[in-house]
Amino acid sequence: MDDIDGRGRSGPIVGVLRAARNAGFAVDVDGEKLRVTGPQTRSDILDEIREHKAAIIEAITHPPAGVSHYTERMKSGIEWLSTCWDKLLDGATSGGVSYNDGEAMADAFAANLERWYNLDIELRRVYPEFRGCPVGGCRTEAIVSCMHCAAPAESRPQP
Ligand SMILES: [Zn+2]
Repeated sequence: MDDIDGRGRSGPIVGVLRAARNAGFAVDVDGEKLRVTGPQTRSDILDEIREHKAAIIEAITHPPAGVSHYTERMKSGIEWLSTCWDKLLDGATSGGVSYNDGEAMADAFAANLERWYNLDIELRRVYPEFRGCPVGGCRTEAIVSCMHCAAPAESRPQP
């Protein structure tokens, strides 16, 4: 994988963010500040985050180029899925799709839906500095939504 993108990304930041996530931390940028929520008992993680604060802000606000490898596939993926979903609904109501075609399409839909979710998971695992929605905001009526759009409460600042 392209772990270095010319921004010195190969540094400790990815490791720190991964460790933080695994320990149950949410790390995000709020304006110029870093917003960190998580278990107070993990002062080791908090120290790491504090130590690399500036670099973490830089990493989150400037996602590496490799992210687009995922977001582009996910954008065309979500288009395919919504087109397919419309066809499936059409077929179900108008009989426009024969039973066998409809079944094959439903299978393809399910397989691609799973692929799409896996891309979302992989993107956030490979690039733990990535924040937000990979497709620029999943539509509310969409049949799929990314982890960010599906769980807005988690990404909101804690009171
Ligand atoms: Zn989304």
